Amino acid sequence: MQYITTRNDIRSLVSKFTILLFFFLNLLLVNKPLAIEIVNPQGAYPLHQFSMLTENSTINISLLNEEGLIAYQNYTSENFLQAKSYINQSIAMFNPDESPLEYINTLILRSFIAYRVGDSINALQDLHKAYPISSKYEFEQVNAEILLNIGGLHQGRNEHNIALEYLNKALLKFEQQENQERSFLTQLLRMTSLLANKRTLDAATLLMEIKPYFMKTQYQGLASYYLQFKGEVESLQGKAESSIESYETALQVSSSNNLMQIASLHLLLSKSYASLKNMSLAIDHMVKAFSVASKARPSFYFYQTLQLHRANLLEQLEEFEAAYRVTQNLIEDNASKPIEDLQTMLNMHANFQLNIQKQENQLLKENNRMQAVQLENKKTLNQFYFVLVGLLFSISILLLLLFLRSRKHQKALEQITHTDGLTQLYSRSRVLELLTHHKELFDRNHLRFCVAIIDLDYFKKINDTHGHVTGDKVLKKFGEICKNTLRKTDIVGRIGGEEFLLILPDTTINNAKDVCNMLNRKLPDIGLELELSIKTTASIGLVSPSKNEETMDIVKRADKCLYEAKESGRNNIVLENGTSNFASNVTRII
Ligand code: GH3
Ligand code: MG
Ligand code: MG
Repeated sequence: MQYITTRNDIRSLVSKFTILLFFFLNLLLVNKPLAIEIVNPQGAYPLHQFSMLTENSTINISLLNEEGLIAYQNYTSENFLQAKSYINQSIAMFNPDESPLEYINTLILRSFIAYRVGDSINALQDLHKAYPISSKYEFEQVNAEILLNIGGLHQGRNEHNIALEYLNKALLKFEQQENQERSFLTQLLRMTSLLANKRTLDAATLLMEIKPYFMKTQYQGLASYYLQFKGEVESLQGKAESSIESYETALQVSSSNNLMQIASLHLLLSKSYASLKNMSLAIDHMVKAFSVASKARPSFYFYQTLQLHRANLLEQLEEFEAAYRVTQNLIEDNASKPIEDLQTMLNMHANFQLNIQKQENQLLKENNRMQAVQLENKKTLNQFYFVLVGLLFSISILLLLLFLRSRKHQKALEQITHTDGLTQLYSRSRVLELLTHHKELFDRNHLRFCVAIIDLDYFKKINDTHGHVTGDKVLKKFGEICKNTLRKTDIVGRIGGEEFLLILPDTTINNAKDVCNMLNRKLPDIGLELELSIKTTASIGLVSPSKNEETMDIVKRADKCLYEAKESGRNNIVLENGTSNFASNVTRII
């Protein structure tokens, strides 16, 4: 045997050794079934959480060629683009008919790589390529794994009916193979799709079926998932309170590293609280779901589900504009990504827009109503003011009328008290008041004046001869003569039956005497005017008041002069210092 060592040989040996080492390392450490990569639609529990269920990897790396292994290495280190290029090189080297198992295995790896770069369509395509080959060569185990993974991928795309179709087939196969772990894993995926499709009864039945599995020691780590499923079933059954209890217990038993499940449980709690209209706790849990998920690099779908739930909460709070913005952002975000629930989202979006419109209309209506009320109020107020002004005006008019009337009454009363009814001259009280007034003016301002008392002579005889009525007429006529003869400023009042008091302001005694003579001269006219054969004369006592003399003293003095005039034969004027006889014009001094 010749051992020729060339550079190429060494390189090949090193390469083979590396691959071998990598293979064993992988067997020891990276026993990671790739089916688990598929996330459920809500991304709530990435299935790698269930990895402990299986000891067999979906991919048997011992079947990979050199490029396949490098691709796998890159895949596990999350260098997906690198992995993609190597896996394509790897695939190209296989002839499906010569090495079908290797080819299928590599296709499955390529499918997983495609899935990890968000290309679920190509991921499905590769699995669909692999499936008929696995059937043809009766690779039963791989065949069942492919079905499980197709189901998982559809589930990831929210296509739950198709997912269930493949998962059911996978389940049947795993059961035939008596592979309890894979059956259980498949059931968990079925459970997820049944819940997503709201198939309450089926989900409840399945929950009872899989319950015993969770009791097994090796699955006890999954207790939080059992509680979560239980909560979700209860929530579908309308038992929101029970579901909250289940989720809370799930949170307690869930591993603190399992951030995606914790985020998912908060989301579910938020939904249950929202259904109970406990908005503050619903918001609390939503915020927690966001904050926990942000630490766990959530899948796009989980993020989308969270945002949609947020939009729903905002809708319940009637914050349609904010809800609208959330869906708007989601739709924009989704432009470059496959949208599974595009229709639902668009419907929600349109609905929010409608509600915004409704809210705006409501606001507008409310505004109009307020304006109408304000207008009405203003109108009422105006009416009130109008009535008030009218009322005040009427009251003022009434008061004015009352005032005028009372003034008229007062004047009339004054007239009555101030006037002598028969002669229309001043009454006794009034003429004495005026006398006092003039006396005070004189006392203060030296305005001189004279006072006379006139008494008709033999008046009793007139009454007796011609009757009282005629007597009255004579008195009346005397009043008229006084008014006609005296100045406007002169004052005359009736102080007794046929006795009159005359005040002559700003008049000297001599002038006063002349005035009295003038009056006396007119007296005979009375008889003529009444067409009676009577000779009317008067006796007059005339005085000039002294300073600070009492009113009644002035009257007494004048009265005294009058008495003198009577005594001296009547038809006479007597001054304090003399008599003025009308006929002889002689003035007697007392
Ligand atoms: P003398 O010259 O002394 O004054 O005599 P006389 O008759 O005028 O005086 P006397 O005092 O004796 O009478 C006054 C009369 O005047 C008595 C009374 O009947 C009359 N008399 C008083 N008041 C009225 C009145 O209002 N109307 C009428 N017609 N007569 C009156
Ligand atoms: Mg008399
Ligand atoms: Mg007389």
